[in-house]
Amino acid sequence: MLIHATSEKKLGPTIPLHCPACLTENVDSQSYAMVDQVLFLFVLPLHTKATLFISCPKCRRTFKPLIPLEDFSAFPVEARGRYLKEHISVFQVLLALAAFFICWIPVAGVVIAGIALLVNWQAMAWLRLLSGIALAGGVLSTGIFLLLSV
Ligand SMILES: [Zn+2]
Repeated sequence: MLIHATSEKKLGPTIPLHCPACLTENVDSQSYAMVDQVLFLFVLPLHTKATLFISCPKCRRTFKPLIPLEDFSAFPVEARGRYLKEHISVFQVLLALAAFFICWIPVAGVVIAGIALLVNWQAMAWLRLLSGIALAGGVLSTGIFLLLSV
């Protein structure tokens, strides 16, 4: 193919902070850039996009920095969390939504909702709640299905 895309993770400096999600103090969070490139003939870059992330080694949640990485050193460790926005993947959201909407299907609903809850266990509260409701709905529909089929 003449054009192909690459995605590379480039590690950056570690940044000490108080994690705004799990509230662990003085964690050495890892910064990294996801560099997506569209290449022509494998070498000529047509498009390059780098997205910065910071991840907490304790809870493994990912954040997008709201200020440049080098500016974090200007703030005390306890204030740095204010300049982070939690990042959730499209996959996590789609899985929770799919689980929520198909949880009424006996057995399959429980399986999908169980996977959604596992994937979103460490995520934001609303994703966990949505997956949890789906699991409860799936257990209920499967239970009713089993009772009616006896
Ligand atoms: Zn954390």
